[in-house]
Amino acid sequence: MGNVVGIDLGTTNSLVAYVKDGVPVVIRDESGDALVPSVVSVGGDGTIFVGREAQRRLLTTPSRTAYSVKRFMGRGIEDVREDAGLLPFRVGAPRQARGGPSDGSRAGEPESQVLRIQIADKWFTPPELSAFVLRELKRRAEEHFRERGDFDFEVDRAVITVPAYFNDAQRTATRDAGRLAGLEVLRIINEPTAASLAYGLDTRNRGTIAVYDLGGGTFDISILKVEDGVFQVLATNGDTHLGGDDIDALLTEQALSEIGRAVPPEAVQALRTAVIQAKWDLSEFEETEIRVDSAPGLPTGYRRRITRAELERLMHPLVDRTIGPCRQALADAGLQPSDIDEAVLVGGSTRIPLVRRLVAELFGREPHAELNPDEVVALGAAVQADILISGRREMLLLDVTPLSLGIETMGGVTSKIILRNSTIPASGREMFTTFADNQTAVDIHVLQGERELAADCRSLARFRLRGIPPMPAGLPRIEVRFQIDADGILSVSARELRTSVEQTIEVKPSYGLTDAEVERMLIESFEHAEADVEARLLIDARNEAETVVQATEKLLRRPDFDELTAGALAPGERERIEAALAEARQAIGTSDRELVQRKTEALNHATRHLAEVVMDRSVREALAGRNVKDV
Ligand code: ADP
Ligand code: MG
Repeated sequence: MGNVVGIDLGTTNSLVAYVKDGVPVVIRDESGDALVPSVVSVGGDGTIFVGREAQRRLLTTPSRTAYSVKRFMGRGIEDVREDAGLLPFRVGAPRQARGGPSDGSRAGEPESQVLRIQIADKWFTPPELSAFVLRELKRRAEEHFRERGDFDFEVDRAVITVPAYFNDAQRTATRDAGRLAGLEVLRIINEPTAASLAYGLDTRNRGTIAVYDLGGGTFDISILKVEDGVFQVLATNGDTHLGGDDIDALLTEQALSEIGRAVPPEAVQALRTAVIQAKWDLSEFEETEIRVDSAPGLPTGYRRRITRAELERLMHPLVDRTIGPCRQALADAGLQPSDIDEAVLVGGSTRIPLVRRLVAELFGREPHAELNPDEVVALGAAVQADILISGRREMLLLDVTPLSLGIETMGGVTSKIILRNSTIPASGREMFTTFADNQTAVDIHVLQGERELAADCRSLARFRLRGIPPMPAGLPRIEVRFQIDADGILSVSARELRTSVEQTIEVKPSYGLTDAEVERMLIESFEHAEADVEARLLIDARNEAETVVQATEKLLRRPDFDELTAGALAPGERERIEAALAEARQAIGTSDRELVQRKTEALNHATRHLAEVVMDRSVREALAGRNVKDV
């Protein structure tokens, strides 16, 4: 049995931590450095460089080096146009590339749509590139355990963090990256949740937490609620292009304008490195020097003193851009700043005193900053990993539903009520009605899975809601409610709202499904997506046709039909309706969706006039009736 770690896979920097004697600690290299820059570079002979070494190669061989890969995880070509335009490497969906099944592309994804990043002449998927970073972290951790003298130094399992707003595909891509790196991903958890865990905020009985995360290239604000050790994300907001990089750019531009002439890229890079160092210094000291001794095209170098006040003036507008998203997130969560019980700082750029002051002002309290803001997410991931393997405390803390849950509706179609990856506890409800007149019971078939057809999903339970008073089809209002508690137990209830007839059952959805089964079901849902959609459309079309056919038949069979329509129908109108009705009924028996839709449309058209006549006269009758009664 190997070791488990927590990993913060960042846009700019990544790092790994573990729990040692009950306390989370980050793993550092020989020089005490915990951060591994999330940069990957490919050497001429195919050697892969990761971290600081790759970052250096960004200067010497930019065409062979990729960074900010996290922006592309789990995304399609269409989603990333803006990001791709801002970055120097090529992003595309090359047809010729065929990395094989182990390259992090999902089964069932059409080959031409898999997004890849070009480094030199090779195309890599984002999970593949992230896996290089993860492998480096794994290697670093194993080295650490070996040096410590552990007999069992292998690292084989990890908890990996993602931004709270990451969607399903982005989380899946992160999980895939872990697998490609030879890690069993115990859980994917939200970065703000991890940070809150690192501060032990899960031990609060209840409270609301604002997590302010300003990193290298992104800003995220998350509002969380914690109750009995379970975190819930109430709202997220942010700016995907705002962070420390922008401060570096401002300082570099200022230096360049002071130099007053064009300098070669090497000199620009040397200036950038110098201003970053100065920026870091100013988080600690009131004054420092930006210093480049000499660089190509800048033989006499560049030296300039800069004060913290000056940096703050320069970067103030950037920091102000985080205020709007914070206010919006609070509003979305339905909260006032005074409702926030704890504020937490995350991200290297929150080391800047100006940023800390702003957060304190925004939320009316001193934010937590006792832990290093660029390490706190990895520390929290380590805590979560430890909770998972030691079985201590709530095993299901922060759990999510692995697959969607729903019920079967007319024609064998799945109707999802709680979507996969919802954080538990979770609940959802949906309104349904009856299909036949005077139906006094409905069967509720509870399903788990992503497929469109009930037959392809896993059946969890069946029960029957009885005692619905006889009513015309479509009139009963049946509310089906799903609730998953913190232990992952699902209860399903069905209630007819007009009469309050109710039935409830309990099901255990996640037990008995292994990871492999979940995976197989997901892969199948990708593979069958197209056929499923077609099958579902056919069922929907048939249901629609059936409804129109039944309504028409009912109308034609009315005992007062002749009275009702006397003198209003055109010659031959009834016959035309009967003919359209017969054709629609026949079409329902076929599997030709377009035919079904065409015939339904034709029947609708044929009955339009009749429906108007009936409506008109019924309304008049009703009004007349009321006059008699009410007067
Ligand atoms: P990410 O979450 O985007 O991967 P980090 O949280 O590691 O990134 O933040 C990286 C950013 O933090 C960089 O822009 C870096 O310059 C900045 N940073 C790190 N330390 C300091 C410091 N002491 N003062 C100011 N900025 C810092
Ligand atoms: Mg981060």
